[in-house]
Amino acid sequence: MYSKTFSIENYFMHIPEYVLDEGRELLNSSALNSASKDVKGLWLLRWKGEPDCETEVFVGRKNVKAYSCDCSIFQERKMCCHVSAAIHHIHETIEKEKLVRKK
Ligand SMILES: [Zn+2]
Repeated sequence: MYSKTFSIENYFMHIPEYVLDEGRELLNSSALNSASKDVKGLWLLRWKGEPDCETEVFVGRKNVKAYSCDCSIFQERKMCCHVSAAIHHIHETIEKEKLVRKK
């Protein structure tokens, strides 16, 4: 996994804008096949596509700590639309959980 720590709240400051847009498009196109989280905060997201790929994101209490994706773009640039989409999804999920807890 590629280690990079940044606040999940400010993730949009740490990912290039065009990659954020690509990630948003990917989510909107319902390419997300499944998403799960283990007890340690390791998220696993599977994407439909050609080829299918898998993204892992390790999230601590407040920070993204590390991530990886098995697509070729990630191997080259250490960032890709899947990681961006994964972090969008994780951030939304965390925000929703916060709202539920407040009620
Ligand atoms: Zn990828």
